[in-house]
Amino acid sequence: MLQTRLLDPTACAYQAPLLIKRLLLSGVRYEKTREIVYRDLLRYDYLTLNQRIARLANMLSAAGVKAGDTVAVMDWDSHRYLECMFAIPMLGAVLHTINIRLSADQILYTMNHAEDKFVLVNSDFVPLYQSMAEQLQTVEKTILLSDGCETTADLPNLVGEYEHLLAGASHQYDFADFDENSIATTFYTTGTTGNPKGVYFSHRQLVLHTLAEVSVLGSLDSVRLMGSDDVYMPITPMFHVHAWGMPYAATMMGLKQVYPGRYEPDLLIKLWREERVTYSHCVPTILQMVLGAKSAQGVDFGGWKLIIGGSALTRSLYDLAKSRGIQLTAAYGMSETGPLISCAHLNDELQAGSDDERTTYRIKAGVPVPLVEAAIMAGDGSFLPHDGSSQGELVLRAPWLTQGYYREPGQSAQLWQHGWLHTGDVATIDEFNFIEIRDRIKDVIKTGGEWISSLALEDLISRHPAVREVAVVGVEDPQWGERPFALVVLQEQHTLDAKQLKEHLKPFVEQGTINKWAIPSQIAVVTEVPKTSVGKLDKKKIRLDIVRWQASGSTFLSTL
Ligand code: AMP
Repeated sequence: MLQTRLLDPTACAYQAPLLIKRLLLSGVRYEKTREIVYRDLLRYDYLTLNQRIARLANMLSAAGVKAGDTVAVMDWDSHRYLECMFAIPMLGAVLHTINIRLSADQILYTMNHAEDKFVLVNSDFVPLYQSMAEQLQTVEKTILLSDGCETTADLPNLVGEYEHLLAGASHQYDFADFDENSIATTFYTTGTTGNPKGVYFSHRQLVLHTLAEVSVLGSLDSVRLMGSDDVYMPITPMFHVHAWGMPYAATMMGLKQVYPGRYEPDLLIKLWREERVTYSHCVPTILQMVLGAKSAQGVDFGGWKLIIGGSALTRSLYDLAKSRGIQLTAAYGMSETGPLISCAHLNDELQAGSDDERTTYRIKAGVPVPLVEAAIMAGDGSFLPHDGSSQGELVLRAPWLTQGYYREPGQSAQLWQHGWLHTGDVATIDEFNFIEIRDRIKDVIKTGGEWISSLALEDLISRHPAVREVAVVGVEDPQWGERPFALVVLQEQHTLDAKQLKEHLKPFVEQGTINKWAIPSQIAVVTEVPKTSVGKLDKKKIRLDIVRWQASGSTFLSTL
């Protein structure tokens, strides 16, 4: 460390620690009458939001919540979740956003591992909670969240129902200052191998992440997704990396916010229309679900801007969304990174390119956002050039990356080898500083000495007019080590076999986009592709399914 001149900590100036409570100051100052909307059930303004957060803090304190305690939430995307994202960390407690889509065993594991002391449970999850209750080792009290008139439930040590408790609490609370490096939130990765791993973020990290997010979304010309007149609706679960941090950003800016509860495509479309939503974010499969909904047919979604992240954005989804009036922007991040790392920003030079060239860049993972450093690392820890073709592991440094996995020192050391956070993604960085994710390291297909990107192949296969959805994985092969295998869901009244797919891919082999080993020798035509708890392709489950189908000679397999 250089010997620099430090600020005097004993000076009488106020230090203004970067605490989440500061994100709450400006929204209500700008737009106190703007609304927070919950489904078609409830709406209130920013003044009320601030008062409800104070009420919640009073109610939780009365229930016994103290600084340092972990308070868990099991809810769909709601105004209550937004209130918890502020009130719980503002008390100095840690908010655990429970991934309600994990299996009951995994949820139980995460709750015991995180040492949850208080749990707020939506009435939809009461049966699930009851099934785990006896095995929960640290929970002391529960609070019921209800959309209806239920004021009680058979929950152990129930304090009461949220709305009733809020109504009885004071709407004023004097939130104390504390160290900005205090942990504010925790949640568990959706990884498909081993136990879920806990990541955690401090107040300082979340404040800086919010500022970076607002600066990118609000001021980069080619992005401009979130200005003060936009209406925000997440379609990413709030347990998935705090809905990508957007509720903090939207609240800081005083945007109208719409929380859709449990995702029902028709209600999402109704809310989009009636509340005049202009900005959302989701993984690709959720957008496909929305566009495929009955009530979406024939609708012009003009004016809707969406960030697509969490998985690669294919050209066919980009084009489909564009034809329906939706502007898509690709972004990249992960649970460990809070999540925002990069966003597809086209500079002057790229804007001047052809339509086709612009699309090529708009669907890549994007350029690192302010305060983020990204590099490509070889297996020996050396750095590779940013030439658009040298592939290696994407490694990162930024002020808001998790400092480790909670109570997992071995895995934390691996995550932070060589002082950089290891993403587990194979990527390139080019002359425009664009990151392109080639694949997850564990999903790259190694066939006859060649490395094939499952993502590149999915992108090309998805351009076939018969294909609605596709997943590509490597399956073991005695001769070649692995061979690519494609799982496809077809558009209605279309057919596809392995030979037709080969014909579709041949031109890309001739152009040199892929090599000839990338052509799958076997495909399966299915009605649904297995998904993870956050709607991504579940490649682990897909591999297991394929082995089973191959062993039983399943009829929906088609072979060259
Ligand atoms: P999770 O921690 O569940 O959010 O998953 C993070 C992973 O999603 C990353 O490591 C990538 O493999 C993948 N991912 C996220 N954004 C993108 C993107 N824009 N393109 C390709 N893969 C992505």
